[in-house]
Amino acid sequence: MNPEPLVFSMSQIKTYVECKKRAQLAYEMLLQPNVSDEAAMSKGTAFHKYAQYQTSQRWPHLEKVEKPEVSEETVGLYDSWWEHRGRTQHDAKKRVLGVEKPIYTLLNIKTGILGQAVYLRCTFDEIYLDKEGWIVGFDYKTYKVDSSPDVDLDFQGRIYIAALQRLFPDYPVRFEYERVRQSAPGTPRGNAQGLRLEEGTWWTYNKAGDKRKRSEIWTPAECYETIILTADQDELDVLWNETLFNATELIVRRRVSETTPGAWGRTTDKFACGFCYFKALCKADLKNTLDDQTIDLLATRRTPLETPEELKEGCSDGLQQT
Ligand code: SF4
Repeated sequence: MNPEPLVFSMSQIKTYVECKKRAQLAYEMLLQPNVSDEAAMSKGTAFHKYAQYQTSQRWPHLEKVEKPEVSEETVGLYDSWWEHRGRTQHDAKKRVLGVEKPIYTLLNIKTGILGQAVYLRCTFDEIYLDKEGWIVGFDYKTYKVDSSPDVDLDFQGRIYIAALQRLFPDYPVRFEYERVRQSAPGTPRGNAQGLRLEEGTWWTYNKAGDKRKRSEIWTPAECYETIILTADQDELDVLWNETLFNATELIVRRRVSETTPGAWGRTTDKFACGFCYFKALCKADLKNTLDDQTIDLLATRRTPLETPEELKEGCSDGLQQT
C-alpha cells in the first residue's frame, strides 16, 4: 500500500511564496488568528455561501447545499446580481461540474518517500462547461471599494488554468472572476448615516440635518464586472514549473526545519507585514513568547483537512461529471 499522499492547497503555496513565517504559522502550526475586523470578510463569505446554495438548486445533478443563514442584505445582493448578470451567465452554461468543490491535480515531484504522491488542491467557487465548449473556473470576488486588478499580473489565476487544463486536456480552459460590489445597483452612494429615503428618492443630509442634495445611486455597470483570464501554453508551462519548484522547496524546508532553526524565515517586505493577519503571532514568535498560552489568546487552532479516501486509493478530480 502506498503512503498517504501530500496535499498542498493553492493558498498554501501562495502564502509560502509570500512569507515563510506566515506559511509556518498558518499551514504547519495550523493557526487561525483571532481578528476583529471581519465584517467585510464575512459579508463576502455569506455571499459565496448563498450563491453556492442557489447554484446547487438550479442544477439537478449537483449535490444539494443546505440553505445558509444569511442576512436579507446578502439575499438582496445576490438577487440583484442574478437579475443583472447571473441569469444571462446561467443561460450560457451547458453544465456546472462542481460548486465549491476542490479539485486535486497531481504534481510530478518526489518527496523522498517511495510511492508518495503529491497533489495541488484548487477550490473554485464553480467549474462549468459553457455552450461553446470551454471549461471555466469561476470565482466571485466581492468588494466594498473598487480597485481594478491588473490581469497581466494575475499569476494565481493562470496556475488555476494550468491545473484545470491537466484535468480537461481536450478542452480550451479559461478562468473568470465575477466582481460584485457590496452595494446593489439603485442603492445610494455615500455615508449611510447621512442618507434618507424620501418618497422613492435618496437625499444626502449633513450633520446639522440640512438636506444637501439628491444622492447619486450605483449603476449596474459600476457594481458588476466579469474579468476573463486566458493564457497561452508557454505562460502556463512556466507557472506550472514554478509551482512544482515551490512545492518541492516546501517539502525540503519542512524536513530541514526539523533539525535547523530559522527555516521559516520572515519576509523583509514591511508593506506585506502591515497587512498581515498573523503579525501579532509573528511578533510573539520573534520575542520567543509564542507559547501555548499566547497561542490560545491570539489564535484558534484549525483541524487539518482530511485527505479524501479516493485520493489515498488513486487519482480523483472530485468533480460531478455524470
Ligand atoms: S508579519 Fe510579516 S514576517 Fe510576520 S508572518 Fe506576517 S508577513 Fe510574515
